[in-house]
Amino acid sequence: MDTFRASTLSEDLSTPAQEGVIPLSVPYLAGNEWAYLKECLDTGWVSSVGPFVDRFERAIAERIGSAHAVAVMNGTAALHIALLAAGVRRDEEVLIPPLTFIAPVNAVRYCQAHPVFIDVDPETWQIDPIKVSQFLAEECDVVADRCVNRRTGRTVRAILPVHLLGLAADIQTIVQTAARVGARVIEDASEAMGVTARGRHAGTVGDIGCFSFNGNKIITTGGGGMVVTEKADVARYVRYLSTQARDDALEYVHEEVGYNYRLTNLQAALGVAQLEQLPGFVARKREIARVYDEAFRGMPLTLMPKLDGVEPTYWLYTVLLEDGVTQTQRKAFIRALHARGIEARPLWHTIHDLLPYQDCQRYRIEHAPRLYNRAVSLPSSVGLSEADQQRTIVAVLELLRDRRTWADGDTA
Ligand SMILES: *Cc1c(COP(=O)(O)O)cnc(C)c1O
Repeated sequence: MDTFRASTLSEDLSTPAQEGVIPLSVPYLAGNEWAYLKECLDTGWVSSVGPFVDRFERAIAERIGSAHAVAVMNGTAALHIALLAAGVRRDEEVLIPPLTFIAPVNAVRYCQAHPVFIDVDPETWQIDPIKVSQFLAEECDVVADRCVNRRTGRTVRAILPVHLLGLAADIQTIVQTAARVGARVIEDASEAMGVTARGRHAGTVGDIGCFSFNGNKIITTGGGGMVVTEKADVARYVRYLSTQARDDALEYVHEEVGYNYRLTNLQAALGVAQLEQLPGFVARKREIARVYDEAFRGMPLTLMPKLDGVEPTYWLYTVLLEDGVTQTQRKAFIRALHARGIEARPLWHTIHDLLPYQDCQRYRIEHAPRLYNRAVSLPSSVGLSEADQQRTIVAVLELLRDRRTWADGDTA
């Protein structure tokens, strides 16, 4: 296997923002970031404990309405530790969508467990709760409180829905389904800070919720993550695992393999400052989505879904090109936007056909590859100016009118 294949293939079109190019999604750092960072430096609290870590955890818990929050160094670490705390062990299985950023799938693998890919719903773009339920009913048996996959003989320990793009998966239905078979639910709410569904914040309905504060998320700590839960013992265990599983702080006694996953006070200081601005950021994201929606109405595009009872944040505003558009055409569409100084990108490559996960079980995947082929995410930064959004809209409308620039030479 050629280990360097991925790095030579990837066209890195993301950070740092190039001069004159409208970026896809960049941080907005206009609040108390400087003041709080200075406070860290002035007081010497720079490392993995400190007053801002506590403040950030409390502020997140309060903001989303969760009993406990534990800060960690990134969203992937949050997912890894959440899976461990949910009891996911070697050779167990986790149901997960194939259309997502790869972090939650990798986190399953870090536990030496196996992802089982369940299709997404073509209307909501999120994991299909009906297929989750059908998979469990048709392919699994509940034996003595364990849900066993008949084909592999392995225990299905958890379901890991991902709230994609600042929308929300149907978590209520999934939680009910999970309860019937004794599985845990871990919500990947990395893209859904600020999103509520039926009055509950994303990440607070399942057993454990995870957030990311990576640079492209709605609020950022540079890199960071959070694990949230209603259960005090789970929160305690997550904190324990993320601090090298230290049983005795003086003598350094460890009774389990732990991790160094804590967030630093410097990062948390950024987080506190960013969280203060979240309501404004969410309002701005919704306004950006409204303007795109308005401009693209009636065009041969599928706009972001409006989901029942969901107050979205439209983390990355994404449209689908016409049904039947090929991956090559979609690539050409994105290249044509780049040529006009507009950063756009596809959704993530469907994971069930990527090298590390090709051999994993998948269940009735029909829609994820179609969405992946058609999707284009457009500039969505909180700081996107009206002029830059108009420039983007004009470019998209031009490309839709003149299909020769991207749709020639390849048919579905
Ligand atoms: C950003 C993201 C993560 C976590 O990413 P980190 O860079 O590790 O913070 C996890 N899942 C999804 C769906 C994401 O978009």
